[in-house]
Amino acid sequence: MNLTNQKPFIAGNWKMNKTVHEAIELVTKICNSSSDLASETNMVVIPPFTALNPVHEILSVGKVQLGAQDVFWEEKGAFTGEISPLMLKDAGCNYVVIGHSERRQYFNETNETVNRKIKTALVTDIFPILCIGETLEERKKEETISKIDTQLTEGLNGLGKEEIRNIIFAYEPIWAIGTGLTAAPSQAEEVHKFVRAKLAEKYGNDTASCAIILYGGSVKPSNTFSLLKEENVNGALVGGASLDAESFIEITKEAIKAYKEKK
Ligand code: PEP
Repeated sequence: MNLTNQKPFIAGNWKMNKTVHEAIELVTKICNSSSDLASETNMVVIPPFTALNPVHEILSVGKVQLGAQDVFWEEKGAFTGEISPLMLKDAGCNYVVIGHSERRQYFNETNETVNRKIKTALVTDIFPILCIGETLEERKKEETISKIDTQLTEGLNGLGKEEIRNIIFAYEPIWAIGTGLTAAPSQAEEVHKFVRAKLAEKYGNDTASCAIILYGGSVKPSNTFSLLKEENVNGALVGGASLDAESFIEITKEAIKAYKEKK
C-alpha cells in the first residue's frame, strides 16, 4: 500500500500520558465523534506501548488507525526494554514515529539509529513517521535548512524510491514542541517546500509530489487552518492537543476545511 496526500493526515502523539483505562476512554470518544470524518481524512492515534492493544481493540471497528511512538531496529533478541516492529505489527500498528526530537534529545537517538529503525519498520510493513526539525539556536543562526538537509540525507541513507513512498515526514521545529510557540505558516511552508524539493531531486517528482509532509509543534484548533492551507503542509503531528478528544476532532475538522480551500 502506497501513501498519498489527497486527504489531510492527522496524527495524535499521546507521549507518556494515559493509563490503559484513560486511553480507552479517550479513544472511545475520538471514535464516537469521528465516524463522519473518516472518508475525508486519515486519523491516527499514537498511545504509549502499554495501551496499544486495548486501543486497537476499540479501533478495529472504525477507521481511525494506530501508531506507536518508537521502535527498535532488530526484530527480536536480547535487547531488554526494547519493542520490535513485529510486536508493533502484532499489536495492530500501521505507523511508527521515528526520531522524535524528545528521543533525539533525551535518549541519544541519532540519524544513524533513525535510519536503522526506518529500514526495519519498512520491512515489517509499518509506515515510519520520520521527525526532523531544528533547535531555536539553529534557527537563529540560519541553519534550519542545513539541519533538515542532513537529517534527511543521513536518515534516508540507502533507501530507494519505493521505500521513500512509504515514509511520512514530520517537520517539527524543536522550539515549537510543547512550548505553545507555533511556526508561522510561512516558516513551516519554507521547510516543507525544501523537503519536497529534496525528495524530488533524489527520488523524482512522482515520489515527491505524493509525499505526506506533516507539521508538528503546538498545533491546536485555532492554528490548524492557516498551517494546513499552505501548499506543502499535508497534515499535523499533534502532541498536547491530541490528549483531549474535542480538540483532536476540532483539529481534524479544521484540516479538512483547509484542504477543501486548497483545491
Ligand atoms: C509532538 O509531540 O510531536 C508535538 C508536536 O507536541 P505538541 O503538539 O504538544 O507541541
